Amino acid sequence: MAEATPLISNLAAGRRIGVISMHTSPTASLGQNGNGGLNVYVREVANAFSDRGIATDIFTRRQSPDDPAIESLAPLSRVIYLPAGRSLDKYSLYEEVPAFAAGIRAFAEREHLTYDMLYSHYWLSGEVACLLRADMGIAWAHTAHTLGLVKNRTLASGAKPEPALRIQVEGEIARQADLLIGSTPDEADDLIRLYGADPDRVHVVAPGIDLVTFQPFDRAEARRKIGYGPGRLLLFVGRLERLKGVDVAIRALALLRDRDHADLRLIVLGEDVRDGDESEKERLKAVASASGVRDRVDFLGTVAHHELPYFYAAADVCVMPSYSESFGLVALEAQACGRPVVASGVSGLRSVVRDEVSGYLIADHDPAIYAERIGRLLSDPELAQQMGKRGRLLAQRFSWTRTADRLGNLFEGAIESTQARVQTGVRHE
Ligand code: UDP
Repeated sequence: MAEATPLISNLAAGRRIGVISMHTSPTASLGQNGNGGLNVYVREVANAFSDRGIATDIFTRRQSPDDPAIESLAPLSRVIYLPAGRSLDKYSLYEEVPAFAAGIRAFAEREHLTYDMLYSHYWLSGEVACLLRADMGIAWAHTAHTLGLVKNRTLASGAKPEPALRIQVEGEIARQADLLIGSTPDEADDLIRLYGADPDRVHVVAPGIDLVTFQPFDRAEARRKIGYGPGRLLLFVGRLERLKGVDVAIRALALLRDRDHADLRLIVLGEDVRDGDESEKERLKAVASASGVRDRVDFLGTVAHHELPYFYAAADVCVMPSYSESFGLVALEAQACGRPVVASGVSGLRSVVRDEVSGYLIADHDPAIYAERIGRLLSDPELAQQMGKRGRLLAQRFSWTRTADRLGNLFEGAIESTQARVQTGVRHE
């Protein structure tokens, strides 16, 4: 894996980057369908680039007739909505890749624009970049956000495995992109070991957090804001799909209620991911009923990103029992708000939560172990407060400015070496 880059961005002001986010938009409402960490990442990096004089055109799909053709995100960042496969699921969207790539090419020609770099997010967009790079002859960086082979290694029971098509496309991207950006050292290793990526092209750049929005608030005040009184609260935030393991949190709640924590409630924020006929929310409601805690689990739907700090601050413990997570922004946000996190020990969460320091990491998905660790925090408010304080300190190491600076450094290097290659007539392999 390539060495870490210095902190200050060398990406020259005036550069223009074509960002590809085909399956989901940075303006989408979060916590439902496929909308979550990736959307936040694309939006925040574009904002930070704009502050540095670097322009981004973010290409996404038109998903509703109300979507404008172009929307401004920041002074130098805009979202361009292209008509391609409005209501198709992720795997059918693959068929739309050539049309989407053609749409980007046509837009650039119409506007007389040349991009210095392509930056794709997730495998579908990586395939778009793969097509475009062949004739644009420019540098290309890719962030996978999640990897099919990694997800398939630790599937929740009943979850559908990622199909061979995705894994094959991810392999092609790993072989061809100039820069592969992993969010954690584990993800970078996976790109090298599982997908055969060249270690010199693989770099680790951690995502960031907005520490002004996500900061500690008074708990009582936060509870008033969200309409809750006293009584202990657990919080889950995220897209509702099996991968997130919300049923483990519900079962842990049932165990805790049988002990000393009769007043305990679980708030679940987020909505179903549309994936066939199954509704994870309905399944979770059934789990809660069967566990005797249906009246103690509040499914509140999605909440706007800027309102989430009140929910984190109102909670006693944030729970994240994911089966796989490439990073885990929710855990970082909870820590930034000074709340302890009880999470699964998957690699993305290990890079955010420190076991016994800012919360607990749990190796498997046994609700009894979750109940025991949550119980420790509920019974010892001082311990919970200490862990919350340490979590805030850990969160202060992350910022979107730093993420953009590290990316900028890598991008400038890739742009310069691609330009040198083009000048000497060497094409990408
Ligand atoms: N989120 C939100 N409102 C919701 C649910 C989620 O704003 O109702 C945001 C959450 O704050 C976080 C992101 O969606 O920034 C989820 O990111 P995470 O990395 O935890 O999960 P992913 O979606 O990448 O699996």
